[in-house]
Amino acid sequence: MITGQNLVGGLWESITTEACFQTMNPKTKEYLTPLFQEASTEQIEQATLRASGVSEIYAATSFEKRAHFLKIIQEEIKQNSVEILAAYQEESALPEGRAKGELQRTLDQIERFIEVLEDGSFSQATLHTNGPDLRKILVPIGPVVVFGASNFPLAFSTAGGDTISALAAGCPVIVKGHPYHAGTSELMAQAIHSALKKTGLPLELFSHLGGESHQIGSQLVRHPLIKGVGFTGSFTGGKALYDLAQKRSEPIPVFAEMGSINPIFILENKLKTDENLAADLSVSITLGTGQFCTNPGIIVICDSSNESSLVEEIKNKMATMELPPMVHSNIEARYKKQITHLSSSNSGVQVHLFNENDSALGVVSGADFIESPLLSEEVFGPFSLVVQCHSIDEMVNVAQVLKGQLTATILSTTEDQHNLKILLTKVQAKVGRILFEGVPTGVAVNQAMQHGGPFPATTDSRFTSVGSDAIYRWLRPIAFQDCPDFLLPVTLQNKNPLGILRNVNGILTTNAL
Ligand code: NAP
Repeated sequence: MITGQNLVGGLWESITTEACFQTMNPKTKEYLTPLFQEASTEQIEQATLRASGVSEIYAATSFEKRAHFLKIIQEEIKQNSVEILAAYQEESALPEGRAKGELQRTLDQIERFIEVLEDGSFSQATLHTNGPDLRKILVPIGPVVVFGASNFPLAFSTAGGDTISALAAGCPVIVKGHPYHAGTSELMAQAIHSALKKTGLPLELFSHLGGESHQIGSQLVRHPLIKGVGFTGSFTGGKALYDLAQKRSEPIPVFAEMGSINPIFILENKLKTDENLAADLSVSITLGTGQFCTNPGIIVICDSSNESSLVEEIKNKMATMELPPMVHSNIEARYKKQITHLSSSNSGVQVHLFNENDSALGVVSGADFIESPLLSEEVFGPFSLVVQCHSIDEMVNVAQVLKGQLTATILSTTEDQHNLKILLTKVQAKVGRILFEGVPTGVAVNQAMQHGGPFPATTDSRFTSVGSDAIYRWLRPIAFQDCPDFLLPVTLQNKNPLGILRNVNGILTTNAL
């Protein structure tokens, strides 16, 4: 049951004198019950102190114990899935199919980290026994703060990839729940809390704090006992939190995933020959009412003879689509403001707004796009800008002015591919993932996935926030030199008691030393 309480270092707390907030059904615009409580300064302090107090105990738990904990979280989520899905749909108005799909994705993400823990090689045990006996391993960084994302109430929120990867790494987690889906978040927090109880792990290692005030997030990030931050949201929010963390007397890593316009480049022959382009693109632009970080914000086409009908075809398709409302009226208002701003700007853009569903398509020449930095900003919602180029050289110039991105897509035929090298080199410098087929929306959760990219897509392009490698954000290396065997972490001991894959004097092996 949703109570509106905060989970403070293992205790559910109600403080009726403090400020409250409500969630809203984005479809009906009705406020929902119950009232949620803004976390107080004292609760933030307690959550942080308690997380820090159990940090070393949790870091020392076996991989097996942590894997068991994650399995019980999965079970708890499954057992409460009816209530979770109902809250999700009320608070986000996203359709049932999306709700069920995101719940399954959240469970699958947890499964990936169970596998990581069962395998154990993520700890990167490296032994060098010739000369000084040096043995290196990755260890957890300590308590971390995770900010829930507005556009993914499950997969990027309370029990989403950031939290689960940090718990798998051995870090206590304090979640700042997103206020737009506070009830869904609380139910997920209940699942994690129950799993802690059932596995006998310290309850203090997980907290869930709600609130609408930036004060809560700021206090958490500034707190000296916090050692890292995970964030998905706006550039403004992510950069503000990053700056706060760097100004601390002890700066800490902030892994913020922020805006991206995920360019799609369509080469000349592909543009002429692929009859499915308009259908595929219109679906991708409007998927989830455009509220995906991998939404294709610009489509750069090579149309040397000005003959392409792609824009008209996409317009025809977008005009007739039925879209659910955006996840919150604030996000909808910001989207509409940006569209109005673009329409009235003197940047050479023509904006076609489809009143039936509020989606929009812009069209601009390559030359105008290159001249106007405004056009490279993310418009979060069902919008894309078609950039019309006359040559592959002009496409290269467009790629040159782009900032860092999560993804880029290059669609080409074999004939186009002879000229692709320079464009590919330019694009490669700007993104974390390059697709050569399909559309960027849809992010597989496995070890080869890279969901990150150069600034401003993220604050640290060396890491991913999706897939099993997301665990490396919460780990740091430590080397033991000439340490007695029994004092070493088990992963580094001579007998290799866990039987994990280790690098021993340059050879990957599961053998004992
Ligand atoms: P947001 O404004 O960045 O907020 C995300 C979280 O960060 C919230 O919990 C918020 O706390 C916190 N926060 C933001 N600024 C902060 C600050 N200066 N100090 C402390 N905490 C701060 O993002 P949002 O609410 O999810 O959506 C707003 C806009 O972000 C959207 O319209 C969209 O443009 C963009 N967005 C982009 C993506 C993407 O994937 N590219 C995803 C989601 C959103 P409070 O609850 O206190 O505000």
